Amino acid sequence: MASSSDDEGEDYLFKIVIIGDSAVGKSNLLSRYARNEFNLHSKATIGVEFQTQTLEIDGKEVKAQIWDTAGQERFRAVTSAYYRGAFGALVVYDISRRSTFDSIPRWLDELKTHSDTAVAKMLVGNKCDLQNIRDVSVEEGKSLAESEGLFFMETSALDSTNVKKAFDVVIREIYNNVSRKVL
Ligand code: GDP
Repeated sequence: MASSSDDEGEDYLFKIVIIGDSAVGKSNLLSRYARNEFNLHSKATIGVEFQTQTLEIDGKEVKAQIWDTAGQERFRAVTSAYYRGAFGALVVYDISRRSTFDSIPRWLDELKTHSDTAVAKMLVGNKCDLQNIRDVSVEEGKSLAESEGLFFMETSALDSTNVKKAFDVVIREIYNNVSRKVL
């Protein structure tokens, strides 16, 4: 997090990471949020990409630098750099693939191991447009989120359901945490 003062008050820059198994839709969630784009046949992200989004909260300019994705084993070398300085995380599974939900505790452990500060976390059940092949119920998602102290939302990067909401809730939570500390 960085902040700077000018005539208009303080501005904020927060880092947010997106984690979860391969192909759960991390890149598409980010491209839907940042550029309103969706790719049906997107290629795996190589290395790390990030996008910056700006929100106005309480008259202040709040920038979120959103990182995607160094989770794959072959990018292990950058793992700690990926997590370093993150104030928020979207931890994503695919509601049509139970194995991706079963991996969530492992992702939460990794986040805990590598993060150097308190992190606002949202559990995201993506691909909620795939109701006919649903493999994880809404209740299961909710209950895991409650037990781990996470926000929870089901999203669809395909039809845009809750994508903006999921990112905005995390950004607002970080802002609230930080501004409470500042006051
Ligand atoms: P990543 O590896 O986690 O970054 O996943 P991608 O964003 O590359 O998406 C993997 C695949 O899932 C791609 O074929 C996407 O088109 C598809 N996908 C991503 N989000 C959704 C979604 O919300 N609904 C559906 N039906 N497919 C999605």
